[in-house]
Formats: sequence, C-alpha cells, structure tokens
Amino acid sequence: MSEDLFINEIFLSIQGESTYAGEPCAFVRLGRCDLRCRWCDTEYAFHEGVAMSIPEIEAVVQAYPTDLVEITGGEPLLQDNVHLLVERLIQDGKKVLIETGGHRDISGVHSDSTLIYDVKCPDSGMSHRNCWANIPLLREQDEVKFVIASREDYEWAKGKIKEHGLSSRHSVLLSPVWNSLAPKDLAEWILDDGLRVRMQVQIHKILWGSSARGV
Ligand code: SF4
Repeated sequence: MSEDLFINEIFLSIQGESTYAGEPCAFVRLGRCDLRCRWCDTEYAFHEGVAMSIPEIEAVVQAYPTDLVEITGGEPLLQDNVHLLVERLIQDGKKVLIETGGHRDISGVHSDSTLIYDVKCPDSGMSHRNCWANIPLLREQDEVKFVIASREDYEWAKGKIKEHGLSSRHSVLLSPVWNSLAPKDLAEWILDDGLRVRMQVQIHKILWGSSARGV
C-alpha cells in the first residue's frame, strides 16, 4: 500500500494559534479540503501539492529546530495515511497537533496527538457540516476553536460552548476572522459575558501579513 500523502507545503513558523501560540512550530499542510468556508485563507491548498512519502516528510520536519509539529490543511483527516504520519512523528519524539474542520470522524486519531478542533460557525457557510457526534470523543488535551466573523457567530458559539459544556473540559479558542471582525469587539463581548475562553489573534498574520504563504 502506498504511504504517500498529498502535501501542499511544509514550513517552519511561529505557531499563530492555540495554547501553543508563540512557539516555533513545523507545519505540514496537506492538500485538498471538502469544505468551502467563506473566509478560507488557504484556498491554494485545495488543489496545489505534490505526493510525498512519509520518510520524505519526516526528513523535512526533522531538519527544523523544533519538536512541535502541526498537521494542517486543507483538511488533514481526508487522507487516511495522515494517521501513519502522526504515528511516525510521535515515534520521532514530536509533539503533534492536528487541525481539523470538525466534520470528519476523529475516532481514529492517535491518542498522543492533540486536536485543534475547528467548529464551523454560521458565517462560514459550513456549520451544517459540523459533526456533533465527535464532541464526546474529544480528549482532555484537545482544544476547541471557533472562528468568529460577526456578533451572530459569537452568540451561536457561546450557545454551543454552553450546550456541550466545552469550557469545563477543553481549552476553548475564539478567533476573529481577519479583516472581518475587529479583535477589540470580540474581546469586549468575551469580557462582558465573562466567558471562560481564550481569545486569540493570528500571530503569523501580524508578523508576516495576511497573504504571505509558507509562514
Ligand atoms: S476547512 Fe479550512 S481549508 Fe477547508 S475551506 Fe474551511 S478554512 Fe479552508
């Protein structure tokens, strides 16, 4: 069986999101996605990429001076071989984060990996694709992210956080859509409501600009 993966890009950057924000991190971006979020900032990953074997990917990642690796996309859980890659990277001593859109089955993910589980809010146009059956499968180390484009998205996310008791079990991340919602507005809503969440802004975009790739 081929162990290749369709890879869009691999690069070293500063982790811009999650509780690992600010840390040097190797990113492995897998190509293809079966969602079409309105505010997607990685549309180039839908079709662009090359086939790489797992040893080739490991070799690139090993050359970077960090033990933190994020597997992202696109949608990484679309490719079954991602699980083999995660296993190998963990064997290599890496801390592995997997960012997924929250609509794919997560029951097969490695027990030592950490999911950054992206729940799609209504303004993304993809909230009908959220797989709520995944929520009880999330492990303590998994982080739940909501990307917020409007007050309506915020109220929706607030309701889902409460309905599923997410703040008591996970780090919950709220992130404003770049150039769509002012970070200050989101900050004030969170403070007004006393939400137990972690607000985040995309550090990599502040550092290198919103259209830069490979950073
Ligand atoms: S899931 Fe991610 S890669 Fe796919 S369309 Fe949405 S933002 Fe873009």
